[in-house]
Amino acid sequence: MDLNLNEEQKQYVETVRRFVGREIMPRAMNLEKGHAFPFDIIRKAWDLGILNLSIPEAVKGYGIDLISTALIIRELSYGDSGIATSAMCNDLANAVIAMHGTEAQQHAFLAPFVERPLLASFCLTEPGAGSDNSAMTSVIRKGKDGRYLLNGSKCFITNASFASQFTVFCKVGKSSSPFIACVVVPAIAVEPDTAEAGSHACREIPLPCGGRIVTGKPEDKLGQRLSNTATVTFEDVEISDAQIIGDRRLGFQYLTDVLDYARPMVAAIGVGLARRALDVTLAYTQERRQFGQRICDMPVARETLVAMWKRVEMAEMALMKAAFMVQEGAPDRGVYASLAKNLAAEAAVFCSTEGLHLHGGYGFMSEYEISKLIRDAQIIDIYEGVREVQNMIIGRELI
Ligand SMILES: Cc1cc2nc3c(=O)[nH]c(=O)nc-3n(C[C@H](O)[C@H](O)[C@H](O)COP(=O)(O)OP(=O)(O)OC[C@H]3O[C@@H](n4cnc5c(N)ncnc54)[C@H](O)[C@@H]3O)c2cc1C
Repeated sequence: MDLNLNEEQKQYVETVRRFVGREIMPRAMNLEKGHAFPFDIIRKAWDLGILNLSIPEAVKGYGIDLISTALIIRELSYGDSGIATSAMCNDLANAVIAMHGTEAQQHAFLAPFVERPLLASFCLTEPGAGSDNSAMTSVIRKGKDGRYLLNGSKCFITNASFASQFTVFCKVGKSSSPFIACVVVPAIAVEPDTAEAGSHACREIPLPCGGRIVTGKPEDKLGQRLSNTATVTFEDVEISDAQIIGDRRLGFQYLTDVLDYARPMVAAIGVGLARRALDVTLAYTQERRQFGQRICDMPVARETLVAMWKRVEMAEMALMKAAFMVQEGAPDRGVYASLAKNLAAEAAVFCSTEGLHLHGGYGFMSEYEISKLIRDAQIIDIYEGVREVQNMIIGRELI
């Protein structure tokens, strides 16, 4: 494993850094106060070619390697982890199609994302099925005419209010079935110009093939307010065979493949946020003086800064190893994906918490970015599998 970035990877980092410095950092603090979804920034990211990183070249995607993908997401998250979450979610929803879809499915369901700045949702979590996703009750059932109908409700779904396509994991036949299928439901295309600004409303989407999708009001969240999150309900949505990815009984295996790919991406979000927390704290403690000296020069405070730096660096190394292992298709890639996710979440929570502490009372004021970072960091330890679930995966592999 080579830790040196190649020229192309260095260029990605530079390009995304410039984009973040120009388009995200000057606006993120104000935008998040309004809790408005910045679809215009998503559009600009799409224009730049840093969205939809998992789409294969055969469908005119960029064919970007996983290390580059992690670097791009890390840099986006340095600007705002909510925007990075929303951007990454397209790949979360589309990776399964790229991995297990037929050529026709890849063209039908992935090409629109290359052609237009659209968003996708990945629909797994349900009110009664969070960490234990096998408890899901959403189901596709065959009707009298032999066609499948999808019914069920998903919660905490990123991009739901603006999504043009939904990738849905559901049971087959009955809610208690051991089989999980993965189905793709295209809906009406929503683009930045056609999206209702800030969309604070529910959405009812009648589908031409039959049935409808209803998305709830966007959730009012503690952090990552620049990502959109809402419930999604599928009511008698007709599903043709062409919408079922791979074998309709192997959805659980496909889900594992997607999460192995996606957990390093969440780790990248954690590393980006942790580094931002370190940088804003360094800047603050180099400026602020007490007891006649800069805070960063006080030995105990410096020790905290060093501890923050170590967490960021360790998480970064775990991220790179996980991205490498997943890219190589290593048999134990899942363990490294979980390790990276855990270390990066820990780094994000640690650096934002200690960073806020080193800001003193000012860190508690909403005008200071560290107060946003500490709110944003909390979810990284939860979504795509809570810390304990990652430890379960690692423990299983160890034993
Ligand atoms: C902002 C946001 C965006 C999200 N985006 C998406 C999305 O796009 N698509 C999607 O499908 N889901 C999404 N989620 C859902 C997310 O993945 C779940 O919230 C997460 O998997 C945890 O499920 P839960 O909230 O039901 O918590 P629960 O499963 O109820 O867990 C609660 C707590 O119980 C403990 N616990 C759970 N299991 C174990 C265990 N095995 N051992 C020990 N302790 C345990 C942990 O401390 C855990 O934090 C999102 C959530 C949020 C908040």
